[in-house]
Amino acid sequence: MAACTSSVAAILFTSCNPNPKPKFPHHSKPSSYPHLHLRRHNSFPVSATTAATGGALPETEEIDFDREKPREECGVVGILGHPDAAQLCSLALHALQHRGQEGAGIAASDLSSIRSATGLGLVSEVLGQSRSPLSLPGSAAIGHVRYSTAGAASALHNVQPFLASCRFGQLAVAHNGNLVNYPSLRASLEDQGSIFSTTSDTEAILHLIATSKSGPFLSRVAEACSAIRGAYSLLFLTVDKLLAVRDPYGFRPLVLGRLSRDNGAQPAVVFASETCALDLIGAKYEREVEPGEAVIVDARTLEISSACLMPSKPRKACVFELIYFALPQSIVFGRPVHEARHSFGATLAAESPAPGADVVIPVPDSGFFAALGFAKLSGLPFQQGLIRSHYVGRTFIQPSQEIRDLGVKLKLSPVRGILEGKSVVVVDDSIVRGTTSKKIVNLLRDAGAREVHMRIASPPIIGSCYYGVDTARPEELVSNRLDIEGVRKEIGADSLAFLSLDSLKGLLGDEAPTFCDACFTRDYPVHPGELVEAKSKEPLYIN
Ligand code: SF4
Repeated sequence: MAACTSSVAAILFTSCNPNPKPKFPHHSKPSSYPHLHLRRHNSFPVSATTAATGGALPETEEIDFDREKPREECGVVGILGHPDAAQLCSLALHALQHRGQEGAGIAASDLSSIRSATGLGLVSEVLGQSRSPLSLPGSAAIGHVRYSTAGAASALHNVQPFLASCRFGQLAVAHNGNLVNYPSLRASLEDQGSIFSTTSDTEAILHLIATSKSGPFLSRVAEACSAIRGAYSLLFLTVDKLLAVRDPYGFRPLVLGRLSRDNGAQPAVVFASETCALDLIGAKYEREVEPGEAVIVDARTLEISSACLMPSKPRKACVFELIYFALPQSIVFGRPVHEARHSFGATLAAESPAPGADVVIPVPDSGFFAALGFAKLSGLPFQQGLIRSHYVGRTFIQPSQEIRDLGVKLKLSPVRGILEGKSVVVVDDSIVRGTTSKKIVNLLRDAGAREVHMRIASPPIIGSCYYGVDTARPEELVSNRLDIEGVRKEIGADSLAFLSLDSLKGLLGDEAPTFCDACFTRDYPVHPGELVEAKSKEPLYIN
């Protein structure tokens, strides 16, 4: 991995010794949940039901069928040097929709001012018609898709990009990641008189830049970055510059590409969380923004310069991007994601085969390539024994366990003709709470499967993430509560095996130490101290 280089002498910081790596203590394993929280709603949306219940509105509960998986909290994109920058941003955000579905927005500069459009919902909902990117003229734009944790969900003021005016002019920011020192940072800024209008950690970065006493913009950003800790891939837009910054550990991905123009004009410069966004708009992948690097692009000349903003640290790229988050067609941290998943599945088959099995099926969509790898190495046929509905996300149902158990059928449908009488290997990317895995096992048995062998193409998740991924609380993680045999019994499979941590590291090769694997090891590269308490107050989720 190349270290970041500097062409902005004033901002160059040299390397220093990394801080000793803190080892985060193991979570205790509670025997039961201290309390359970369900999102309850008394505004049942179907009037016929109101009539059927004599006019009384029944209490309902929100079931989110994707909640079982860890969730990436954001995706970012930036385009500079194209007359349709905002429209291209909007298209690129469609490619990043899997990284956040609760809000989207774009900020664009026409070299004299910045305008923005943000809203709650999918990109197609937010940036259609009334807030069309056509209303955002300019050759430079940044965009953001957002998923928020439960407490801050559905808050329009938290949707990015944030656009602020300060004594230095207008500034917009889009952030993928999570700051572990946000609580104390915010408290200290408020002590100094800052007034926050959101509950997002990203706003603290804007306050730090606005209150900096440094001169040039890049110096102010450098000063702000020296005060924040955690995971951040940031895009800043001023009226005449775009600045891309990645935290010194490089937790979250951020790539740089170029988009050729037909008329012989200079290629546009593109930044994105994943290469799938570059592919969609026809841009070519050039390189990653390196950990600790700031890439500055001038909006008038498209001249690019690079600076090492932060003292170098050992890279700790999120391995879960390869396991689950990123789209399979993306290249993340220099690795094709589909190849990585295929190799995880093949190695899983080598270390934990399922003798006597008839067929391998994936849990769609994320288990697809791992299941292909498993089937290829084991010589078993690969079949799509489960069909996923792409039209179900969250829904409101009555809060009985019986109805809740039926809910999984809205998301996944078994193909009886493939499963009946068979010994089935079902491959998934990960298990978090175990609730969905249990329902999948039941679903396969109900469809006639003779045996169900669950194979997981990652190690057991035993720790929560504090670096921009919404995972469950530690006490909700089934592998933090139970050993593998206990999990097998809980989900009701005939056999269960996970990809071993040693095998995962072996597949990452020499680069293994450059990946964060804290959710499998609790070996946190940046101590999440302040966020542990906040996490412990999040509502527990059952499904
Ligand atoms: Fe990724 Fe897990 Fe590390 Fe979070 S803790 S950054 S999900 S590897």
